[in-house]
Amino acid sequence: MEKIILKGNSTSSTIIIDERIENTVKYLPNKKIFIITDKNVEKIYRNSFPKAPVYSITPGEKSKQLSYVENIYRWLLENNADRNSFILGIGGGVVCDIAGFVASTYMRGIEFGFVSTSLLSQVDASVGGKNGVDLDGYKNIVGTFNQPSFVICDTNLLQTLPNDELVNGFAEMIKHTLISDEHLFDLMEKECDDLLQLKQPTISKHVSYSIKVKEKIVASDEREKGIRKLLNFGHTWGHAVETLTGIPHGKAVSIGIEFACRLSMHKGLLLNRDYLRIINLLKTFELPVCTNQSPTKIFDILVKDKKRNENRIDFILLKGIGKPAIVSMTLDEIRDFIKQ
Ligand code: NAD
Ligand code: ZN
Repeated sequence: MEKIILKGNSTSSTIIIDERIENTVKYLPNKKIFIITDKNVEKIYRNSFPKAPVYSITPGEKSKQLSYVENIYRWLLENNADRNSFILGIGGGVVCDIAGFVASTYMRGIEFGFVSTSLLSQVDASVGGKNGVDLDGYKNIVGTFNQPSFVICDTNLLQTLPNDELVNGFAEMIKHTLISDEHLFDLMEKECDDLLQLKQPTISKHVSYSIKVKEKIVASDEREKGIRKLLNFGHTWGHAVETLTGIPHGKAVSIGIEFACRLSMHKGLLLNRDYLRIINLLKTFELPVCTNQSPTKIFDILVKDKKRNENRIDFILLKGIGKPAIVSMTLDEIRDFIKQ
């Protein structure tokens, strides 16, 4: 078991790796506990939940809506939740985002914690103190920055995660290595078989490395003013691919990573040898590196999405594996590149 302390501006949060879900009760404060989960997670793990009232949402992104959140506020009111209550989110990124948002706004904010059950939520969604819901097609447009008191990452829970969901998490893990440390990338290459089979202790070790990469970046820029932008590597193009095709986030990010790497090579920043290594690793983790959609269509969505009034886009590129750089490019420059 390993503990990582995440220090925020005002609060701090402890991430506990490899604690079992059954031991969650050890971390709960002496308060009235309310659990928010989703129906899939509840079905498999209900017997391991601490004893407390449970609100179970319909799984998936569609539940990240204010109307859903209203129902949760009502449920809290009906069950006499007060300022001294504690919300425990048990689930993937959707549950964590909703639980964090509900806890941050109910009665102007009550304490909360997570048991993170998907790979994506362990390495990404539950680290960094962002929460929120979607509105009119805009993802995470309403939300707060607020740290949970603790996050429990029980990597044994990943055994029941559907493969497609696992792959989403691996995409973010690969992203973390690319923006931070070539050695971590080497290690993912070397240990890919064990990772794909979720072998212990390899999977826990890599989840821990990945969390540390995000934690370090977030700690130096909690409110996303500068360096936190590096976490958007692969996401500028990836989000547009996701919007256009509706493919899962991780797969879209993988296509976005390929695009950013190709652009880096075009700018003379990244060696072809490194580009090929990156593509290989993405493929090893069953991630796509291209789409049959036209790049022009993707680009149009990207430009619309950003609602920019200026003529430039900041791309996160690579000067090498583990060496990210924020590069401002004109729309014309990108247009010329995709026409090649
Ligand atoms: P998710 O929460 O929908 O979980 C994916 C699926 O896996 C769901 O069907 C869920 O029921 C199921 N599941 C979860 N854990 C399971 C387990 N152990 N066994 C079996 N099934 C399990 O999606 P996600 O990929 O975990 O998270 C995506 C969400 O996270 C998005 O809404 C995204 O916006 C958000 N996110 C937030 C941040 C942040 O910083 N707040 C960062 C990245 C992503
Ligand atoms: Zn992402």
